[in-house]
Amino acid sequence: MTKYVYFFGAGRAEGSSVMRNLLGGKGCELAEMTNLGIPVPPGFTITTQAWVHCQRAGRKWPEGLWDQILEHLDRLEQVTGTRLGDGERPLLVSVRSGARVSMPGMMETILNLGLNDATVEGLAARTGNERFAWDCYRRFVTMFSDVVLDLRRDVFEGHLGAMKARLGAPTDADVAAGELRKLVQAYHEEIATRTGKPFPQDVRNQLRLAIDAVFDSWFAKKATEYRRIHAIPEDWGTAVTVMAMVFGNLGETSGTGVGFTRDPRTGDTRFYAEYLSNAQGEDVVAGIRTPQPIEALRDRMPAVYAELLEIATRLERHYKDMQDIEFTVQEGTLYLLQTRSGKRSARAAVKVAVDLEKEHVIDQHTAILRVKPPEVNEAIRPVFDDRERAAAIGGGRLLARGLPAAPGAAVGQVVFDADRAVEWARGGQKVILVRPETAPEDVAGMYAAEGVVTSRGGRTSHAAVVAVGMGKACVVGAADLSIDEPRRQFQVGPHVVHEGDVISVDGGTGEVVLGAIQTVEGRLGDEVRELLVWADFYRRNGGLGVRANADSPVDAERARAFGAEGIGLVRTEHMFFAPDRLPVVREMIMASDQATRRAALERLRPVQRDDFIGIFRAMDGLPVTIRLLDPPLHEFLPNWKEYKEMVAEQSRLEALGTDPEARRRLGALIEAVEKLREANPMLGHRGCRLGITHPEIYGMQVRAIMEAACTAAEQGIGVEPEIMIPLTGTVGEMKETLEQTRRVADGVMAERGVLVRYLVGTMIEVPRAALIAQKIAEHAEFFSFGTNDLTQLTFGYSRDDVAKFLPKYLDMGLVPADPFALLDQEGVGELIALGIDRGRRRRPDLKVGICGEHGGEASSVEFCYKVGMNYVSCSPYLIPGARLAAAQARIRDRLAGSDDLR
Ligand code: ADP
Ligand code: MG
Ligand code: MG
Repeated sequence: MTKYVYFFGAGRAEGSSVMRNLLGGKGCELAEMTNLGIPVPPGFTITTQAWVHCQRAGRKWPEGLWDQILEHLDRLEQVTGTRLGDGERPLLVSVRSGARVSMPGMMETILNLGLNDATVEGLAARTGNERFAWDCYRRFVTMFSDVVLDLRRDVFEGHLGAMKARLGAPTDADVAAGELRKLVQAYHEEIATRTGKPFPQDVRNQLRLAIDAVFDSWFAKKATEYRRIHAIPEDWGTAVTVMAMVFGNLGETSGTGVGFTRDPRTGDTRFYAEYLSNAQGEDVVAGIRTPQPIEALRDRMPAVYAELLEIATRLERHYKDMQDIEFTVQEGTLYLLQTRSGKRSARAAVKVAVDLEKEHVIDQHTAILRVKPPEVNEAIRPVFDDRERAAAIGGGRLLARGLPAAPGAAVGQVVFDADRAVEWARGGQKVILVRPETAPEDVAGMYAAEGVVTSRGGRTSHAAVVAVGMGKACVVGAADLSIDEPRRQFQVGPHVVHEGDVISVDGGTGEVVLGAIQTVEGRLGDEVRELLVWADFYRRNGGLGVRANADSPVDAERARAFGAEGIGLVRTEHMFFAPDRLPVVREMIMASDQATRRAALERLRPVQRDDFIGIFRAMDGLPVTIRLLDPPLHEFLPNWKEYKEMVAEQSRLEALGTDPEARRRLGALIEAVEKLREANPMLGHRGCRLGITHPEIYGMQVRAIMEAACTAAEQGIGVEPEIMIPLTGTVGEMKETLEQTRRVADGVMAERGVLVRYLVGTMIEVPRAALIAQKIAEHAEFFSFGTNDLTQLTFGYSRDDVAKFLPKYLDMGLVPADPFALLDQEGVGELIALGIDRGRRRRPDLKVGICGEHGGEASSVEFCYKVGMNYVSCSPYLIPGARLAAAQARIRDRLAGSDDLR
């Protein structure tokens, strides 16, 4: 018979951390803590396997499950000396959800189960606290109705609110026992009318229904949405933990709290926790009441505080990571109710990893593996410009100062609900979600927003914890904002801010400012720098190099500052688009004879040369790969809309019969646009096809590159130009462009009397080129995989039109991911592996890189390492992440083999 239930209690547990998949994160760590001798209320966990079997059988419980539950319930009753449903010594339990990976607040939990009209009296008598007993009962009825009976909480909150108003009671705590008794009576009546059935008094039936409902909460909309965002498989399911209640609402020596062993915003080494006296856990987690700083506990019960701190430290050492814990104090006795690895900001992720290494808790490669590559990129994301910020605040634009809950600088339009956030973000707008507090239902909206502001809640409220994990700027508890949801506006002092108005949010300081504040580029902080130095160490000697895609000297400098070891792609056409150059480029394109074209090219040459000198200077001593002109010429001419306007203008001038010169110019432009128009420009006259039909264009570019190289070399700059031919598909193309290039390059060096070592290679972006790589490598001295075009041509998807069907494809699972974002290793990757292999057969030392958009994405970087590339090249802002990803790939590879890590 399958074992579906695992017990923990009285210092011993059947489960442990390694059983995470079976017991869920919550269940396995409760077991682990029990075995560590940490005070945890006893209980048992029903496995995820039970959930799976239940789903498979069409939501029927597997055979034997209920019996096993009853057996373990019996054990629990013995350990606690109480009984479920007992009129004198009633056992109360919580029924908690818990998946393999934490999905904070996305599924359901029911507290105080086991109460009914009889046991509530027993509880009151036993604790000598009638008010407490009825407070538990009204909480239980509310939660049970919400989770099991599908009755909205507001119904009950409404009754409570009305009662408080009638009694003039400022808080829940001011409602006396007798009143709570009446309240529960009202709840019962409400339930009977709404469901047609009385509230279930049979406690075992309560338990059974609760377990079922918690099982089902896996399918709640918010949980499903959370799984989609975090790519969590649908079929994992949840475990269910049933455990004895401990009561934080038993008076002034009781309370509840949550805490992080380090500051989740910054990673600073300090206990970051909040405490709520005389309350149950749900009050803090849901952000219903704003908790106090943990010092409140220290001042009131120093011994309990010391014990909590000691346990927190012990847990962190044990799990070798920052922990997020839930605890409750019942009449001066401390209990731990949950521990898990804490969600943290990108900055904190890096600092915690580096600090733990220095504290000898983890080793260096563990520290490197622990940080996600996008997190180091995030560490360099923009911050508010200090001067602008000061000016805005000085100018009276500061709206509020709330609690800084998640770092980041966000600017966007105010929206007041999650759906609108999603909708506007989809339309390309940047939004800030402003809410009184957030609930798990708001997760998709938070994800769509740049930042989140709440007027209520503490640093460990739902909004704070979720935003930190998502890397969104977040300010909570901005109490000065009075939010008027129906009118879609909020007011602070004299300011009224409407939906759509722009605000700036600084999650690092807690400031909310009216209007936009300029942001400036972030910098690599000390810890990021240190982590990357370690990472680079693991990449050395045969690891993957990291280069940048950079088109200008400024980009090149930035890339170098972020650690680029060269440039993998300079797109020369970007130099053509500058407003002062475009007219000359157009002249060149429209020239009707060779001489005019050459004259225009001659005017472009010095401009290109100067750009190259700047780039060589920035990359002194490092290789620079420059791609010759790639896009079809029509891209430099007026677009379709402008073309139509030109045609209209021409007819207007014709009708007027004036200005023959303007008419002639316009006519020539229109003719050129028409002549160059292509049915399918992606497959048209571009890349080396252009260089072969217009050798003077490539000739000018090669000349500019080599002149720049000679000049730079003369100035003592280390130059390593690598001239790259785009879109090669046949050996003939490669051979022809190579010879052309060499002729011009060698000519320049002879003229100048300077010798520069340069390479000529090609992009591999046409599938055919990968297939005949062996022959291409005969001429090409290096390969760079242009995975944007290669993906386009391998799938036959035009990148510009893919949005029309890709979302549907993703929905239906016809493609696992957007292949333009995540390298398609199965297909495109196969061509890459094959191309490298064939190319190196002809030229064993062939240098190979990637310069498509994928070069900065972690899983693609790992792939590039595995197929033996020499480097990846990506946007300057992705360089830190690529360095980390490349190190991780190497470390994983070495750990898998028996190789020594050093
Ligand atoms: P979530 O996953 O949404 O955090 P939990 O199962 O952790 O849900 O429970 C919600 C709150 O109830 C938490 O604050 C938790 O500490 C508290 N809680 C759960 N079980 C008990 C219990 N047996 N006694 C006291 N408080 C509990
Ligand atoms: Mg919890
Ligand atoms: Mg291309």
